[in-house]
Amino acid sequence: MPATPAWPPKSLPRLFVRQPLGDAMRVELDAAQANYLGNVMRLGVGGELLVFDGDSGEWLARIAETGKKRMTLTVERQTRESEIIPDVWLAFAPVKRARTDWLVEKATELGAARLLPVITQRTIAERVKLGRLEVIAIEAAEQCGRTRLPGIAEPVTLKALLNDRDPARRLYFAYEGGGEAAAAAFAPGPALILTGPEGGFTEKERTLVRGAVNCVPVSLGPRTLRAETAALAALAAYMAIAGDWRLIEP
Ligand code: SAM
Repeated sequence: MPATPAWPPKSLPRLFVRQPLGDAMRVELDAAQANYLGNVMRLGVGGELLVFDGDSGEWLARIAETGKKRMTLTVERQTRESEIIPDVWLAFAPVKRARTDWLVEKATELGAARLLPVITQRTIAERVKLGRLEVIAIEAAEQCGRTRLPGIAEPVTLKALLNDRDPARRLYFAYEGGGEAAAAAFAPGPALILTGPEGGFTEKERTLVRGAVNCVPVSLGPRTLRAETAALAALAAYMAIAGDWRLIEP
């Protein structure tokens, strides 16, 4: 006898809504969401879905009304508490747009709490469009089951990042020229992982970063990784060693 399938089934559509959620609340969807549920997922009145507002967890909702390019939901009950995500921030030098989009999508899936684009000497990137990155993070959160969205900061210079950093937040400096092995370096606690641009950090920048309080240079192995690979590899290693991949109850 197949086990009774979990309820609600993980396959229900899942949407982020900007309106705070609660029992028996009515939620107006935007035109794109109404189109997605109505025309892509072919759901009508009575159809069920999961919704989250980035703060109060995940909720089961039901389509109450539909109209031209609009849909109203009724929130039925909470299905999950808001998740506790490891306090790990990823500061990355933006790269070409498509690869930066990919980095933001994957870093959201991997569980980054905050994403900080950092402008360094050798950063060659088009203007970082935060609105666009936010949409990518929302879609990734909808898909991977997150109930909290990663914060996405305005791009800052490396100097400003170091000046504004709370020294209690450990700075993990990913440097292909050498550093502690990830397994030895990463430890639970507020973390800021820093990875560089395609051309790497300049000597002056490396000295500046190494001189920062509570900074640990980290090696991601003997090969030189592309900028977006290094950012995601460092985040994944942190999650496995010091994050929330350590214990998942079956
Ligand atoms: N500096 C190199 C160059 O001159 O071509 C390559 C920079 S690499 C493409 C981009 C960034 O990824 C680096 O600044 C560093 O933060 C990170 N990175 C790449 N490989 C790494 C490794 N093996 N260990 C630690 N960080 C690495």
